[in-house]
Amino acid sequence: MERKKRVLIVEDEKNIVDILRFNLQREGYETAEAYDGEAGLQLAETENPDLILLDVMLPKLIGFEVCKRLREKGNNVPVIILTAREEETDKVLGLEIGADDYITKPFSMRELMARVKANIRRTEMRMDGGSSVMDTGSGLVVNTDTYQVTKSGKAVDLTQREYELLTFLASHPGKVYSRIDLMEQVWNYGYVGDDVRTVDVTVRRLREKIEDDPANPAYILTRRGVGYYFSGGQS
Ligand code: CA
Repeated sequence: MERKKRVLIVEDEKNIVDILRFNLQREGYETAEAYDGEAGLQLAETENPDLILLDVMLPKLIGFEVCKRLREKGNNVPVIILTAREEETDKVLGLEIGADDYITKPFSMRELMARVKANIRRTEMRMDGGSSVMDTGSGLVVNTDTYQVTKSGKAVDLTQREYELLTFLASHPGKVYSRIDLMEQVWNYGYVGDDVRTVDVTVRRLREKIEDDPANPAYILTRRGVGYYFSGGQS
């Protein structure tokens, strides 16, 4: 039988932890809980969770810092930020430091469960992926067996979402996708308000990692007013 998926809850409000634990366990997940940022960081490493629900305002170490440190250590576990404020800066900052998703409190449990499921499913799709090497012929190589991306022979460290955005676009070179298309195809959800901004932030981060000149990209190109597409790097 398949191992139960494990969700690490990092949240200092006990009543929120309790309701999250109850609902996650009812949906068949195992849970682990941490009530401050330091404990969260530690459990993220020792418990090997399949996903982390990460509050922002936490004692000892704020959620953004927890996520940032995980990514710096090369830990690419999906992270959903729980933010108390409907603030664009929080969302953008969360994504910039490598979170995969965010949800604003107060959230509906149904919405949260859908996000948890979608983010874990993406990891599984990645694990089941086909076997091939995408070589652009211009220095950028994606090995979808090992999930390694190299640029001119040097490893590029991408978050899961950046990797998925890159492989999705690179699998359909030249085809332009709107941000809403990408939200659906790469993020696995339907159009959700102004969240398409998420796509722009992820594209920008990806460009910073794979492009020689992120301001004048050769791989992930913008079709103004329409969306993004992949080019082989010979612009
Ligand atoms: Ca808090």
